[in-house]
Parts: sequence; C-alpha cells; structure tokens
Amino acid sequence: MKYKANSTIPISNIKITDEFFNKYRDLVGNVIIPYQWDVLNDRLEDVETSHCIENFKIAAGLSNGKFKGAVFQDTDLAKWIEAVGFYLSSYGRDEELEKIVDETIELIAKAQQPDGYLDTYFIITAPDKKWQNLCEGHELYTAGHFMEAAVAYYEATGKDKLINVVRKLADLLCEVFGPEEGKCHGYPGHPEVEVGLVKLYRITGEKKYLNLAKHFIDIRGVGDNYFLQEEKQKDFKRIFPEFADYDPSYSQSHMPVRKQTTAEGHAVRAAYLYSAMADVAAEYDDEELLESCKTLWDDMVHRRMYITGSIGSSGWLERFTTDYDLPNDCNYSESCASIALAMFGKRMGEITGDATYFDEVERALYNTVLSGIAMDGKGFFYVNPLEMWPDSCKDHTSKLHVKSQRQKWFGVACCPPNIARTLASLGQYIYTANADSIAVNMYVSNETRYKTETSDVLINLDSNVPWEGHVTLKVDMEELNPYEILLRVPYYAKNFKVILNDKEINESVDKGYFHVKLTKKKSLINVTFDMPSVFMRANPKVRADSGKVAVMKGPLVYCLEEIDNGDNLASIYVKTDAEITEIYDNKMLGGTMKLSFEGARLEENGWDSHTLYSPQSTKLQKVKITAVPYCYWGNRKVSQEMLVWMKELLY
Ligand SMILES: [Zn+2]
Repeated sequence: MKYKANSTIPISNIKITDEFFNKYRDLVGNVIIPYQWDVLNDRLEDVETSHCIENFKIAAGLSNGKFKGAVFQDTDLAKWIEAVGFYLSSYGRDEELEKIVDETIELIAKAQQPDGYLDTYFIITAPDKKWQNLCEGHELYTAGHFMEAAVAYYEATGKDKLINVVRKLADLLCEVFGPEEGKCHGYPGHPEVEVGLVKLYRITGEKKYLNLAKHFIDIRGVGDNYFLQEEKQKDFKRIFPEFADYDPSYSQSHMPVRKQTTAEGHAVRAAYLYSAMADVAAEYDDEELLESCKTLWDDMVHRRMYITGSIGSSGWLERFTTDYDLPNDCNYSESCASIALAMFGKRMGEITGDATYFDEVERALYNTVLSGIAMDGKGFFYVNPLEMWPDSCKDHTSKLHVKSQRQKWFGVACCPPNIARTLASLGQYIYTANADSIAVNMYVSNETRYKTETSDVLINLDSNVPWEGHVTLKVDMEELNPYEILLRVPYYAKNFKVILNDKEINESVDKGYFHVKLTKKKSLINVTFDMPSVFMRANPKVRADSGKVAVMKGPLVYCLEEIDNGDNLASIYVKTDAEITEIYDNKMLGGTMKLSFEGARLEENGWDSHTLYSPQSTKLQKVKITAVPYCYWGNRKVSQEMLVWMKELLY
C-alpha cells in the first residue's frame, strides 16, 4: 500500500542543531522514550502504576485481570508510539526500538476487535456500553491518538501495520457516526479524533475520513445538547462524578462551533477542537469556519492566556473562566493545553500566512511546554503555576492540584508522553514551505533539505536565540527561480536588520514576515535584531497582575526562585527604571542567561509570630534580584518558592 506524504517539509528532512532545544531533544531518545516505555510496562519502582500495556494484554486475551487506569489510559501508549515515530524521523532508524514498537503494534492489533473497535477500557470493563457515553468515555479521543501515532510511525518507517489497524477503526467510525438516519449523531466529549481523521485522510487519500472530521465539527453543539440527552438514557453510568450537573460549554458543545466567539470550557478540549476546525477549514476552503478560528484564537490569546503561553486558568475542571481571570498560584495551565495552543497556532499561521500566530506558538513552546519536563527528562508538571509557595499546596485543599516539584509520572498520565511527542517533532514548527517561498517561523538552529517544484534546497540556519538576536541562514538552491525567504519578525525584536550577501536590504514587512528575494543560487542571509530584557505589564483588567511586572528576554519569561532570592518572594518589589544586567552562566542549568536587577524587600523586623495585623509601618530594604528562565524552575532545588509576576516599586 502506498500513501502520499504530508505537504509540509517532513521532519525527517530537518536536523535540529540548536543549543537551547537540544538539551531537551537529546533527552527524547536517550531518556524519555526508554523511561516512558518502562513506565507503560510498570517496571519502575516509586512511580505511579500505568498498567497501560497490561490493559492491552488483557484485552487481547493474553493475560487475565482487571482494567486499571483512566478511561483514556490507552492514549499514553499511542502518544508514546507517536513520539517514537517522530524520533525515528528526526534521528534515523533504530532496529532495536522498532522491534519493540512492532511487537507492541502486534499486541494492539490483537486487542482490536473484529469489527475494528479499539479501546481497552470498554473491551475489558463494559463491552455492552460502547459509544453510549461519548461525553466521558473518551473512545473517540483515544481513536484520534492512535491515528496520529499510526501516521507518525508510518512516515518514519514505511510500516503500515498500525495504519491498517486505525483504518479498520476509522472505517468502523464511519459506519457508526455520520449525518445519515440510523447512525449515531453524537460527537466526541473530548475532541481529538478530528485531527487524527484529517491526518489519516492526508496520508491515505480516503475522503470519508475527512468528511467524518467535518461532520463532527458541524454537528457539535447543534440542537438539544447531545451529552445532556445521552445521560438521560436508561442504564447510563457516570464515569467522572464531577460531571454531574454537566455544563456543555465544558466540552465546547454549548452552541454550534461557528457561532462560538469565546474560548470556553476545558482548555485541552478547546484547543484540540480549534486545531481540527482549522484543519477542516483549510481542507474545504471554508472561510466561515476559518473566521470562527480567528475569533476564538483572538479571545484565547488576547484575553485568556498567561504570559507563559498557558491556558485554562481554573484549577477546578482545567478550564477557561472569563476574560482577564488569570490567577497565578491556583491556575491549572496544563502542559497539554499549551501543546494544543501551539498546534492550533501552527495551523493558523500556515493557513493565513500570518507570522504573528507563531509569536504565541513560540511563547507556549519556550515557556510552559519546557517547564512541563525536568531537565533530566524524568519529571513532569501537569499543572504550571506562575507562583509557587510549596507549603500552601496541600492535599485536601483548593491547591491540591498544584505540585511544587515535577512528578515521576501520573496515574492519569497524559502530559508526559504529550511533551515527548512535541519535543520529538519540534521541526514541524520551524518552517512553512510554499511553492515559491519558505517562511522561517522560529529561529531554532537546524539543517534542512527539501525540494521545491524546480529545485533541491539546502538551508543551514544558525541562531543564537533566545540569548541574542543573531541568525545566519545559508541557502543553497540547485536552480534559482523566483524564490523568497520569509523571516518572521518577532514582537520583541527591535532594529530588525537583514543583510543578503553583504548588502543590507529594505524590503517591506508583510503579515509579520520580512521578505527576502533571493538573487543567487547560494545566498548568505545575516539577520540581527535587538532583544533586550524588558519588564512587561499586564492589561490593568488582569486583577491578579495589577501593579506587577514580569521580566522577559525574547521569547523567554523569567522567574524568581527561592534558591537565588530567599523565601517569601511576594515581599519583593522591583525597581523597573534601573538596568537589567544579563549574565550568561555556562555552568548553570546546562548554560543559561541569568538576569540581575534592583529591588527592595519588606523587612520582617518587628513582626513576630504573635502579630498577624498591626498599624506599624513596614520598611523596605534594598536587594539585588536574580531571575532565571521560567522553563527551568524547580530544576536546581525542588519544592521551593517561585514567582513570575513581581510587585513594581512605584516611587
Ligand atoms: Zn495533559
């Protein structure tokens, strides 16, 4: 069977050579993939049990026992296979690793039922309840992750066993779901199958998969709410007790998606849905749907997103609340939600040709996604606060979801393998290739080979971002037809200058891209821009950040840590009219830029443990403050205070 490749540059053609990202990317093959494989097989002590592989063995009839884990436990394996696929594409084939994956795919195929059904939770625990609780059951969500895994593994290896498994599953979905009379008119409680179906369509050319993705988008939220009807069924069994009194906006099913204007509900569900809407809009040239995507993106990133590119500010139910409600110490900000934001932004940037989408993609990737993983690859944050006071994050309190140190794994895993697949496929975010141009969306060092319709092209991109705004591109074309390099001008870049073959050029900037017309087969492009450290302020409507500043350098948000600044970080005030000193420390955190600036701290003299309130004044004492990149917090010392938004000294 032959499948056509994706239209973007395959990640196998992009070799990332970036100093900043390679710290993490190298972990993917060396640590994360083997570590997560051990976890999925329950081989590690002191780590929450996954039971994932065991569930497949039970479903396949190879083992006895009960299903354990979340209803969507299967997706941890799917995301792991997808990460392996991306890893093999990026780093080359690996016989030993492929043998493990091939055997696992055999196991998955054995667990699949003759009609194509695949979901170990229902196969083992409730075979008579299939498709009856779409709101909570996650069967379609799980199917979507297997489709994505199959495509990534096929693209890396050409092996189609898993593609055949998911085609059988997708064929079943096309029989069960659809607008026709007699079919189920439900849709996923957790969007994801839509992006999976689009990917499967793009690689197989099977239009019915695309049609089903579009159907799921179009039917969502239409008429009487499907999920509220579903729970009225006789014998309906609730899976998540917190879903009693279900609010349809939680799953973006409160109204048809084309009518939605605000980002609502569970943040991962929302951004996966919006990503699928963007895919479907692109495939069907659906302007109306694209407009809805733009509106939702605008609401999400301009009124409901943290400076770190995280979304979902409510600790309860991991969801959006209202515009400007962005508390810093009790938020959810799931790692997966930032991954989903990057997925959505990438699609929008590619469809519209507007570079500003990548400002936010970059924000999410450099800050929250990296914060989600420890620098040794063995610890993960599910929740990403912007302010941490470990003693206050206690179990049985409203902050029990906020962890002060990265966890080895989670019984409900989700984020760790999602971070793995994102790091392994980082190359997909760097370029957008068009017929007569290539856009550089992120300044991540790499070496890339690709073909235009008329020429082979080799690009060598060498970048000092995020520490310095200095990028060189060597572009080598076999044939020179009119061809342009489009350079994203980041929102933080000042004095953006481009020198093409020793000559400064002044082209216009369009949709956030600086256009460079190539005049020779071999070109050297030097890009420089200033990227000073700056104090940032939030819109005054953001109550939580009122009177506060955060410090950024380029795409990186910085934070204060207790290890550098002592405890009670909330008592620190920052002097924002003084200079920020940048100090590159090659020993710290594998090489990083620290920032140092002036401030003051409230003195605790005169306040003893018997005085909680008093009319006495509190003095300020001058202090030197040190900030480090937010993505690195909690790597030098666990369970310590951390703070992004600092009080501004206004006199
Ligand atoms: Zn997650």
